[in-house]
Amino acid sequence: MPEAMVAPASDATRGNPAQNPTQEVDVAVIGAGFAGLYALHRLRQAGLTAVGLDEAGDVGGTWYWNRYPGARCDIQTIDYSYTFDPALEGAWTWSEKYATQPEILRYLGFVADRYDLRRDIRFHTKVTAATWDEGAQRWQLTTDNGASVSCRYYIMATGCLSAPKPPEIDGVKDFKGAVYFTSRWPHDGVNLAGKRVAVIGTGSSGIQAIPMIAEQAAQLTVFQRTPNFALPAHNGPVPADRLFLLEGDRATYREQARWSPAGVPWPKQTAVSWQLSDAERRERFETAWAKGDLVYILTQLWADQAVDVDGNARVAELVREKIRGIVRDPETAAALSPHDHPFGAKRPCLDTNYYATYNRPNVTLVNLRQEPIKAITASGITTDKRSFDLDVIVFATGFDAMTGAILAVHPIMGRGGKTLSEAWANGPQTYLGLTVAGFPNLFMVTGPGSPSVLSNMAVSIEQHIDWVVDRLVAMREAGFTTMEATETAQEGWARHMADCSMLTLHRLANTWYTGANVPGKAQGVMPYTGGVGPYRGICNEVVGRGMLGFKLAGPGVAEQCNDGEIVCLQPDVRLVLNMLAEMNLPPIETLGAEGARAFLNEFNKSRPAGRLVGEVGEGMLQGADGPLPYRLYRPATPGPHPIIVYFHGGGWVLGDEQSDDPFCRDMCRRSDMIVVSVGYRHAPEHRFPAAAEDGHAATRWIAEHAAELGGRAGPVLVAGWSAGGNVAAVTCQLAKARGGPEIAGQLLVCPVTDCAFDRASYAENATGYFLTRGLMFWFWDIYCSPADRTDPRASPLRGELSGLPPAFVVTAEFDPLRDEGIAYAEALANAGVPVEQLKGRGHFHSSFTMVDVVITGAIGRARMAEALRGFAGLPKQTTQRDDGARPVRPAVPLDVNAAAG
Ligand SMILES: Cc1cc2nc3c(=O)[nH]c(=O)nc-3n(C[C@H](O)[C@H](O)[C@H](O)COP(=O)(O)OP(=O)(O)OC[C@H]3O[C@@H](n4cnc5c(N)ncnc54)[C@H](O)[C@@H]3O)c2cc1C
Repeated sequence: MPEAMVAPASDATRGNPAQNPTQEVDVAVIGAGFAGLYALHRLRQAGLTAVGLDEAGDVGGTWYWNRYPGARCDIQTIDYSYTFDPALEGAWTWSEKYATQPEILRYLGFVADRYDLRRDIRFHTKVTAATWDEGAQRWQLTTDNGASVSCRYYIMATGCLSAPKPPEIDGVKDFKGAVYFTSRWPHDGVNLAGKRVAVIGTGSSGIQAIPMIAEQAAQLTVFQRTPNFALPAHNGPVPADRLFLLEGDRATYREQARWSPAGVPWPKQTAVSWQLSDAERRERFETAWAKGDLVYILTQLWADQAVDVDGNARVAELVREKIRGIVRDPETAAALSPHDHPFGAKRPCLDTNYYATYNRPNVTLVNLRQEPIKAITASGITTDKRSFDLDVIVFATGFDAMTGAILAVHPIMGRGGKTLSEAWANGPQTYLGLTVAGFPNLFMVTGPGSPSVLSNMAVSIEQHIDWVVDRLVAMREAGFTTMEATETAQEGWARHMADCSMLTLHRLANTWYTGANVPGKAQGVMPYTGGVGPYRGICNEVVGRGMLGFKLAGPGVAEQCNDGEIVCLQPDVRLVLNMLAEMNLPPIETLGAEGARAFLNEFNKSRPAGRLVGEVGEGMLQGADGPLPYRLYRPATPGPHPIIVYFHGGGWVLGDEQSDDPFCRDMCRRSDMIVVSVGYRHAPEHRFPAAAEDGHAATRWIAEHAAELGGRAGPVLVAGWSAGGNVAAVTCQLAKARGGPEIAGQLLVCPVTDCAFDRASYAENATGYFLTRGLMFWFWDIYCSPADRTDPRASPLRGELSGLPPAFVVTAEFDPLRDEGIAYAEALANAGVPVEQLKGRGHFHSSFTMVDVVITGAIGRARMAEALRGFAGLPKQTTQRDDGARPVRPAVPLDVNAAAG
């Protein structure tokens, strides 16, 4: 590999850097790895002049620097490749499932040659500072070698794992032996034969290097602070099944990867862990273990493995079982078994013989949790228990990920002299992970706020570069020369990022994804956790909606500022609504009552089944005009429990005990109370006031039969969603007016409270959010004649509210019923009723009842359960449960998507 070669400037770069104090180009691209190379290619194709600058001596980026023994990719190489040119794909064949560093470096060199990219790259040139020149509307870049650069656009393809983290241990300079960093491994290799070697760090690089070093060294001592999950790579030829898929229809395969969650096409898993038997779960796990594929094991076991603490714990325990099975010494096996983070919350590693290496007689594991390093001395390493004499220390201590290489260019001075370090003092703020408000024409590739390290980076890099270059071309065509994110857009993106992070378990771990590995670094989940495909959709939508969130300006053209937020919905709500839109369903109100019921039954079959509770029973109770069915959910804990009487949603026309089954189970599990779901009568067969009267009668019957039902005697609670919320609210009014039963509290979830349709939410959310204005009209028409609608049994907002039981009222931002729910809560409060409101930001009418589909609704449901427990006089549950499973302690403060009002 040619090392010390500064590339001559091209014609396109207008001038020789040696002669010219400043090199003028349209675009400067910092970095000549996967991203920088593709950027240069696309920019040249687009007719923009560009220069690449890299501190390294040649192309390759990551693969130029990380030459340690065992260095390989951990995404299958057929996926970890450029896809922009089918001819390039045809011209290169990977020799292995996971290629080695030398092979990937050769590939990138091959790409550079094929597109003649080196002529535009200045190697051995580090960009040290960057300043936005307001007058010239250009970036001025300072370099440590040769000419500075003046560019209109500044693309930081500096890599998200390219700034090594300095060692945090005193005395490195005193050590008389050799010191190496995996991320800066000498190009001519290191002979470790017969040496006493220490490896500090057991992240991906350490796990890849340790087995190789153990084979050479006389003695290897591994210093481990935090164990990582690792899986066997089972490296070898490219798997025939994947190759078959790729070669069968390359274009489709690549397109599926682009729209997939992680940039590798695997089907979406729908079975949830608690639906599978132990044997089924084990079988799935063994298949994944044998496959040796990171994305497979992270996505294909069961649908809840990455979003739910319990679903995840099942995988984690199976991996720990494997570790115990491989490592002979139980103490070493225990030390190697991660317990401090969910599986996948930190990138698991792919290994070759990693755990088995600890069975070798020349390998020792030092658990730094039990014996921290005191110092590095001239002769080796001293812990607080013992000393190790060493010849070589290898630091595999990882990177200042995602922001390290960006902020290492210092200062990056944007508008008004503000530096990026100042703008990011509390953590990185970006719009789409690509741009930063106040820093016009600055673009980051795989920066914080983009899917980045949570994806197959080759796919993400191509998407980023395509998006950026396409924008530059579009700007040129429209006469714009600057592009800058607005503050509103950036703040919105931060909110969306926080919402997305509720969808995964990354927030529960202290990792380099959250900045926790670097002392003093602001903490927060840095990569975009919403998935590669959804992210791509959002970037496209920004363009489709007229560059939403950007200011565009240029000489001689009117400035365009399309201010706003690109995603206001919760990420999973957005997915659900997009999916429903794609299904192109007929409006429910066109199906007739019977057709609508059949549709709902069919629709509900596709959702995840509710979770296990202690017991589910069915029975009949006495309604207002005859027997009614009910379904009872009993917690697994010893009773007697307080009883919640529940009324399902469905516009007084649809639904039954089955339709809200997952929600009832969830409420039972979270509140630790009995839930009795009542099958009240429906219109059109039984119009107003049948549902209202049934609600009251059923509640009275349940209160009177509490002991028989195994519940606690005394006041009951009522709860309901949508029209069921209406029935619950009315039941409280009737109970007060008619002298019972006694009700201790009411939970009203997105309730119908009034027959007026003129509130703002009816207009704002008339269509597009599943429950439409038209559907509500239809429900009202079927249930209640216009003359009856102002009756408080139909419109409880018009009833007598003083003296009603305390209430917890839930509303959703994107719900036509939002404002009447809020109006009811406010009216109750004005009448002296204790009320708590929960306003679900970014949620729609069905968010909270779509258990295990709208995951972001879990926080709201946890708060509902707490409110119900409070009404029943039960103590607060001390630890937050955000998923219906075991208590969790977040590493990073949670953004609460359900704000209290
Ligand atoms: C050991 C290892 C294995 C990996 N395996 C995988 C994998 O299997 N799959 C996957 O998707 N990802 C993997 N990654 C992540 C990997 O970083 C990306 O896949 C990809 O290589 C990043 O390409 P890039 O061009 O964005 O950045 P890089 O490859 O990091 O290149 C950035 C370049 O910018 C240069 N640079 C930075 N700052 C400056 C400056 N101020 N001035 C001049 N030059 C500068 C650097 O010298 C570097 O050459 C791995 C990372 C590591 C470390």
